Amino acid sequence: MRVGIIGAGAAGLAAAYELVKQGHYAAVYERAPFLGGQASTFDVGGARLEKGYHHWFTSDTDIVELTEEIGLGDRIRWIDSTVGTLVDGRIYDFVTPIDLLKFTAMSLPDRIRLGLATLYLQRQKDFRKYEDITADEWLRRHVGRSGYDVFWGPMMRGKFGEEHYRDVGMAWVWGKIQTRVKSRSKSMIKEKLGYPIGSFGEVFDVLAERVREMGGEVHTGAAVERVEVVDNRACGLHVALEGEDSRFLEFDAVLATTPSYIFPALVPPMPQDYLARLTDVSYMAAVLIVLILDRPLTDVYWLNVSDRSIPFVAVIEHTNLIEPEHYGGKHIVYLSNYLTTDSPFYRMTHEELLDEYLPHLRKINSEFDASWIEESYHHRVGAAQPIIGPRYSERIPSHRTPFEGLYLANTTQIYPEDRGTNYSVRMGREVAEMIVGDSMG
Ligand SMILES: Cc1cc2nc3c(=O)[nH]c(=O)nc-3n(C[C@H](O)[C@H](O)[C@H](O)COP(=O)(O)OP(=O)(O)OC[C@H]3O[C@@H](n4cnc5c(N)ncnc54)[C@H](O)[C@@H]3O)c2cc1C
Repeated sequence: MRVGIIGAGAAGLAAAYELVKQGHYAAVYERAPFLGGQASTFDVGGARLEKGYHHWFTSDTDIVELTEEIGLGDRIRWIDSTVGTLVDGRIYDFVTPIDLLKFTAMSLPDRIRLGLATLYLQRQKDFRKYEDITADEWLRRHVGRSGYDVFWGPMMRGKFGEEHYRDVGMAWVWGKIQTRVKSRSKSMIKEKLGYPIGSFGEVFDVLAERVREMGGEVHTGAAVERVEVVDNRACGLHVALEGEDSRFLEFDAVLATTPSYIFPALVPPMPQDYLARLTDVSYMAAVLIVLILDRPLTDVYWLNVSDRSIPFVAVIEHTNLIEPEHYGGKHIVYLSNYLTTDSPFYRMTHEELLDEYLPHLRKINSEFDASWIEESYHHRVGAAQPIIGPRYSERIPSHRTPFEGLYLANTTQIYPEDRGTNYSVRMGREVAEMIVGDSMG
């Protein structure tokens, strides 16, 4: 069968690969001039780097297996991660459970309470227990006031903003904790993170190459303008290939991997019930400033910023995971924020953001000086993080849409896990199977 795929991120490319592997024809159309969607890369110091920090957990087996299958297994590195939390100008390590006991930003009984609540959550295997309650309610009740104010509250506000942090379902927090548990060694002491040394961009490039080798097509700079639907059945795509007029291409089935807010504009009016499921989930956008420094800023990979006077929520020092030598000796630091697209910080220019952010770097390293910065970059990702509320299992949009032969696979359909390249790959493959299964009746 012939399948047209909208979007060459992790989901679209994984679906195409699965289809061509099974002997079908798949053509992927990506409107951006590059592959990889949210996990795409740019060039730094002679190497490629993700526009937004990326790594894998050891539980990310679908994408790791796919990377091995396409011949890049020897490019994957597994490295001990280092995590810290910044409170009142001090970085507290958060690598081992002992570190929690040393977290003197809270009283000892509060630390014990926070630790016990986390341990309890780690042992819960069924997310349905957490379906009916928001994270805000559950955490306030179980981790105590100080555990909430110092630890969880700043993280939730950082990820979902003042507007949305109360909307998030507890199942989302449960999913996050489970991912981290699975990424720890048996002794539960250290967390290992994975990274493909040629970057996520290399994985997507090789994946696209394999699709082409097996008879499929992958186009960038190719915006899908409309899905043609006749008698309630998807039968093709209207695509504007770069520099050319829009053309109609016929397909037996179509898979869209776009964010939910883009999808309705590509198809005829949909039944209200399905449309409501798409509009039910809104997204946080991500804003990244990437600093290329001549020396390290911290000695941790991942720093949660619990000080809300600082206008970014995490500092990810990529070269504390992958050696600076890989990037011509440069040190790479992401300053990360999750925001709504109408937030002033989302709209600020690169220079305006630097002006806002840089004075705060002294709170992280008192010796920091702007002269350490050799270059900096500014990236925005619109649909970075879906906001998943309580009882979401009752409201997830199905992959089969109301139009026959038209399928949707995007990050709002990943649940109870949080979105991630691994789950987009898994979903892409599963929906490819579904498309083939449906075609056989
Ligand atoms: C800051 C940040 C950090 C992250 N960190 C990690 C991490 O550490 N590990 C991890 O695994 N994941 C991480 N993620 C999540 C991960 O990047 C995403 O979950 C994953 O890449 C989503 O892939 P996707 O294919 O489902 O969607 P997308 O990557 O969003 O792909 C959809 C594609 O559709 C294209 N498109 C949209 N409309 C059209 C159209 N009309 N025509 C043609 N093409 C169209 C888009 O351009 C896009 O390329 C992170 C995300 C962000 C934002």
